[in-house]
Amino acid sequence: MSLLSAGNRRDFLKLTAAGTLLGSGFTNRVSAAESCAPENLSQINVSHYLLRNVRLEEGFIRKQDVITATRTGLYDIEINGASVAGIHSPGFSSPLPAWDAGGHILLPATRDMHIHLDKTFYGEGWRAPLPRKSVIDMIHQEEQILPELVPTSEGRAEKLIGLLQSKGSTEARSHCNIDPISQLQGLAHLQQAIAHHRQDFSAKIVAFPQHGLLRAHVEGMMRGAMKMGADYVGGLDPTNVDGAMEKSLDTMFSIALDFAAPIDIHLHETEPHGVAAIRYMLKTVRDNPQLKGKVTISHAFALGTLSGKELDAMIEELKEQQFSIATTVPIGRVIMPLPQLRAAGIPVWSGTDTIADHWQPFGSGSMLEKANVYSQLYRGPDEYSLSRALGIATNEILPLNSQGEQQWPKAQDPATMMLVAASCSAEAVAHVAPVMATFHQGKQVFGALAKI
Ligand SMILES: [Zn+2]
Repeated sequence: MSLLSAGNRRDFLKLTAAGTLLGSGFTNRVSAAESCAPENLSQINVSHYLLRNVRLEEGFIRKQDVITATRTGLYDIEINGASVAGIHSPGFSSPLPAWDAGGHILLPATRDMHIHLDKTFYGEGWRAPLPRKSVIDMIHQEEQILPELVPTSEGRAEKLIGLLQSKGSTEARSHCNIDPISQLQGLAHLQQAIAHHRQDFSAKIVAFPQHGLLRAHVEGMMRGAMKMGADYVGGLDPTNVDGAMEKSLDTMFSIALDFAAPIDIHLHETEPHGVAAIRYMLKTVRDNPQLKGKVTISHAFALGTLSGKELDAMIEELKEQQFSIATTVPIGRVIMPLPQLRAAGIPVWSGTDTIADHWQPFGSGSMLEKANVYSQLYRGPDEYSLSRALGIATNEILPLNSQGEQQWPKAQDPATMMLVAASCSAEAVAHVAPVMATFHQGKQVFGALAKI
């Protein structure tokens, strides 16, 4: 994809203009990139280069022990191959080709850890979901839509990957329908789409029995998907969809054990079925230690129905069996114990689920947006809380540790990162600030910067 096209140039200028409207102080720094003529903008096309005028976080500013702001400074960052090769003072003397980062803050790239790249409408104009009553109702709707979607799913998956990159994500975990209509064709198309982006995007695939593992009789097809190279075994509401909690979960686990594969199950069920399902999964992992650390629960709304000692005990067991949680940070009736899970050291990862399919139409594809919603729902508006919220989008890679010591980037870190039109990560989260450039393992995969 050439970023010198007129369309991308327009996008860049639009985003830069938006950036200058952000928070106090930001308008005072008119960057070189903003003042350059558009013809100076380019996408970096070499593997060893300098990014000059990069803003990095250096520490928290405190007033009487209260964190009030983030201290930053400008640096020249040297990238060689997939890694950060050096962090230099501004004006570093070097013959390397250089691009101007415009004083934008450099943050770790984000990850979309729950998306359905295989059945998106994205890229073909606006299309809202139909009214729905239940998950089963949605499955019936999907049976009508899939014959139209599956044959052409590869191109739309690639367009959605492009959108994620433009929002700062270079990694995704994508569920892929394994159902009697898609069979293994949707998987083959998704694998093709991902293969085309091997250099600029990392994606893992969950074989997902969207129409039920037992209900749709797809155990054999799921095994076929694992043989084709799917990375994770999926599952879905074992009581509400499959009508047989233990048998459904046992089947899912037996596929995982046979293929030595990890699991990522959609669990929308609440009390009592969802809680019972989580307890049964914990017991299964306890009895089969080779599954420890290999189970992700997506959505996990049942956790939002627990409180007090019951929740504490559940969190302790999830921690013990090394479960992880993927969440869209839902806004609704269920208040999820996401801060408690993170505080206990249980990985909590954000995902969009999609922004355009027949299940849901919301969002922009941005993980900064998810961190923003997380902050609004759970963590508060102060500098420290906003800076920590970014961790749900970056697998807890953050520029500063909780004491305010600089910990990212360091020399030899993967150069998987984004330049954001904000003064610090707290502002980036609060304003869902525009992403100006995205880098995946040293390669610029989105944006255009001024060549110096
Ligand atoms: Zn999903």
